[in-house]
Amino acid sequence: MASASPKSSHSTSKQNFDKVSDIAKIDFSSSEQFTSDLPNDFLGFCINCGNSASIHISDEQGGIIGSMCLSCHNESMAGLTDTDMPAHIPKKLSFHNIDGKTSKFNIEFMIFATGKTLTATQVGKVKRKIDVFGELDDDFNVMFETLKSRIKKFLSVTYMQPNGYFVESKVVGYIEFNLERQACDVIIDGKPYTWSELEKNLSAHEGWKIKIEFGDVGDVLE
Ligand SMILES: [Zn+2]
Repeated sequence: MASASPKSSHSTSKQNFDKVSDIAKIDFSSSEQFTSDLPNDFLGFCINCGNSASIHISDEQGGIIGSMCLSCHNESMAGLTDTDMPAHIPKKLSFHNIDGKTSKFNIEFMIFATGKTLTATQVGKVKRKIDVFGELDDDFNVMFETLKSRIKKFLSVTYMQPNGYFVESKVVGYIEFNLERQACDVIIDGKPYTWSELEKNLSAHEGWKIKIEFGDVGDVLE
């Protein structure tokens, strides 16, 4: 039988928010292209500049008429929606933890017809993803500061124990399609879990209540 009791498994790893350095290194270098979850070769090249594309351009019927890189897409959407492009969009962020470890994130900014998003995706095996949604006229710098504070908060929280049991009675993650097994993973602490791998946590909480809540891009689940 499972030995982990939900009531006895509280860990000291949670809420060490103030241990994460306030100093974030910001890289404004333009040598690296934005990346997308989709492989570039699937999308071909930007019809505007010829760089690797990451976004499909479709017509009113939904048919794909070409692809664009994120930079050209944003310039185009900024023009169409009369939105200011930020003077500088950092491509990377690094956070230094008190334990000497560094967590690096790729930063992606995207303008849509109805808003704009800032997404930070952790670089490496552990892939935390944090995002912020803004209205078209929201200040980019405010969104960026919100993103940094959300990253720091996320880095200070550990939801899963190495044995696959939740640290406390609440877990927050995101859902991502796994191409290899053609099904969705639940990403917790930046690591993928199948639904069946999470099942033992249900057994450990038999008789308890459960809440399943989905959040959209930019939502923070508390
Ligand atoms: Zn382009």
